[in-house]
Amino acid sequence: MGNVQILLRQHVGAPCAPCVEVGDEVKKGTLIATPTGLGANIFASVYGKVTEITDDRIVIEPAPEQPDEFVPIDVPEGASKLDMVKAAGVVGLGGAGFPTGIKLGINLDEQEMGELDAEINPELPKDFKLDCERGFILINAAECEPGLAHNIKQIEDECDKVIRGIKYSMEITNADKAIIAIKKKNQGAIKTLQKALESEPAIKMHLMPDIYPMGEERAVVRECLGVNLTTTQLPSAAKSVVINLETACKIAGAIDEKKPCISKNLTVRGRIKGGNEAHVFMDVPVGTSVGDLIQRAGGLEETFGEIIMGGAFTGKATELDAPITKTTGGIIVTVEFPDLHGANVGILVCACGGNEERMRDIAAKMNGKVVSVCKCKQAIENKPGAPLKCLRPGNCPGQVKNNMQFKKDKCEYIIIGNCSDCSNTVMASGPKMGLKVFHQTDHAMRAVGHALYRTLKVSKQVSQDIDF
Ligand code: SF4
Repeated sequence: MGNVQILLRQHVGAPCAPCVEVGDEVKKGTLIATPTGLGANIFASVYGKVTEITDDRIVIEPAPEQPDEFVPIDVPEGASKLDMVKAAGVVGLGGAGFPTGIKLGINLDEQEMGELDAEINPELPKDFKLDCERGFILINAAECEPGLAHNIKQIEDECDKVIRGIKYSMEITNADKAIIAIKKKNQGAIKTLQKALESEPAIKMHLMPDIYPMGEERAVVRECLGVNLTTTQLPSAAKSVVINLETACKIAGAIDEKKPCISKNLTVRGRIKGGNEAHVFMDVPVGTSVGDLIQRAGGLEETFGEIIMGGAFTGKATELDAPITKTTGGIIVTVEFPDLHGANVGILVCACGGNEERMRDIAAKMNGKVVSVCKCKQAIENKPGAPLKCLRPGNCPGQVKNNMQFKKDKCEYIIIGNCSDCSNTVMASGPKMGLKVFHQTDHAMRAVGHALYRTLKVSKQVSQDIDF
């Protein structure tokens, strides 16, 4: 194992401030940095010695021996469950990184249902009421980024922990119901959950179609509860809190074992020697390098395009010496990029895919000349410069206008970052107009053996509740 680099910002909010010095010996679970504003505690993930502290990271040289024992979180006798989650530095491990101790600090029973926007949500009756006494915990088990497999494996391996995490989250927020949102294709995990939920009447499952982005937070609320939140509303407007599945397990770990958040589950796959299947690694110390993990999976193939940290839609290009953080879910080694030989390219930006910078990065790697940039009309900025948010994640508003703009701008190729439904719509008119379509995920999908995002095979996929 090489040096472990622990970033001081692995969450929404400000970077943490180090509370150790160069030369200090640390153990797994030693507190090494604390929040300076919105943030979450950061701990050493290995036994070793601090060798360097910079503006953005603490570097630890690991000791040769790495016992399993860890330093438990330091909380007073009788600390509340919420305080334990806060002290453990748990954040949204699905990629968002919002501090979980803050998210759970809500009493759903006292939460008023928000005003629902009739224009966005015309199908809601005026007297619409949610089917709960107090509120919902919604567990995001969509594992929506294609090719990732660690959330589903955790359900199969640690279902008890998942259920404990859900029940603690319900207790902390005063929710009376919980719904696990999971894609219908994951039949093994669904059966495991079904069995576990026989004795848990307050928790049920909601099955979702295998389309992207069913795992977007507001898509989970919509699919499970039938409520379309606006781009500025939080799930609390629908008396709910959305928790990623792995995060629920960390909540259970913080409360049952006083375990700090020091490790991450993730999936490594793509152009890896020995096969492109999912290499799932559980409990990887935060700060481990991308290169170490690729090596553990079999090592890099001789030729590849780029290494993506995160999912194919929302991840970014990374390097072998980059460290994983609390929010890293995937490492994908892609196939090589096609060469567009400087041809004119249009890029179509989606709220749930790569931002314009990432799309330009991909166009440059394909040797394309970007002459036109459009965005999906449902992708809006809540305020100037803020990340795009989708009005109705995964429900296409139609893309003909954008295709016409690309044609007008003399594009030969377009690179799209759209959701499944919108990619389908792009394909309905783009090729007929002579536009050659690439999706931003193509090089990753080819590497993992997943179908390309083009034309939906099943256009009428539906969500459903599951009865026991
Ligand atoms: S509707 Fe548009 S912005 Fe929303 S997910 Fe689909 S492509 Fe992205």
